[in-house]
Amino acid sequence: MSSVLLSVDLEDVRDWVKDGYHYREGVVDNTRVYLKQFKQWGVTATFFVVGRVARRYPGLIGEIIEAGHELACHGDMHVQLDKLSPQEFRFDIEANLAALKEVGGKDICGFRAPTFSLTKQTAWAHEVLADLGLTYSSSVLPAKNPLYGWPAFGEDARKVGTRLWELPITLHEVPGLAVPIAGGVYFRVLPFLLTRWAIGRKIGRKQPVGTYFHPYDIDTAQERFMHPDLGEKKHLNLLMYIGRAKVLERLDILHRTFPFQSYGAYVNALEAGSS
Ligand SMILES: [Zn+2]
Repeated sequence: MSSVLLSVDLEDVRDWVKDGYHYREGVVDNTRVYLKQFKQWGVTATFFVVGRVARRYPGLIGEIIEAGHELACHGDMHVQLDKLSPQEFRFDIEANLAALKEVGGKDICGFRAPTFSLTKQTAWAHEVLADLGLTYSSSVLPAKNPLYGWPAFGEDARKVGTRLWELPITLHEVPGLAVPIAGGVYFRVLPFLLTRWAIGRKIGRKQPVGTYFHPYDIDTAQERFMHPDLGEKKHLNLLMYIGRAKVLERLDILHRTFPFQSYGAYVNALEAGSS
């Protein structure tokens, strides 16, 4: 069945911010807010967890497991793939897997590249992931993008090699708006009516809708600081703070309208040929 694939990229943005640890810790409380909501809605999500975040907050990862959600990899140190060699990437994912297993993670089969940095230039990563026993990746942004993107990959989920599925992040179909439908800044900033309409269209066509949220996406109390990867541009940084109070309200409306499931459950259904 086609669904909204619910996911949280579990990372601590302070790790990449200058003097980041002077700012208030926001990962634990905001993740618990997600957990409470997901429980209320009776939905299961995938948490793509950075290895060092798992080592820092083992109790929190235990709560996620206890609640029945899926754990998956998001890089051990959240390094974009173009900054790693294939061998370094392998070590990074091995460390990420070890960190998740150390805190109780079992049957980990998924990966999301930091900043959707899996592109044509780093296509070797799919082979490394398959070799490490993973069965899916949600790492490609199949459009041109100022940061990373792989337009030629195409927007449909497909198998890369014999074992690994790639589920590219779902994009709007409006001309000139090839950005993710339901993730991070785009979910917060674009008109919700457009988002809901776009999701409905995909689900109507039996296509899955990949989402991604972060602890900071709902952190309305976070201090103002320059977020990484924005080239120090103040107007872009402003977008990082817009619409945070509306994220859960919007997700609540979506969950009443569309079926939600985790990435792992969707991939299992794909494998079984029943999706
Ligand atoms: Zn990330």
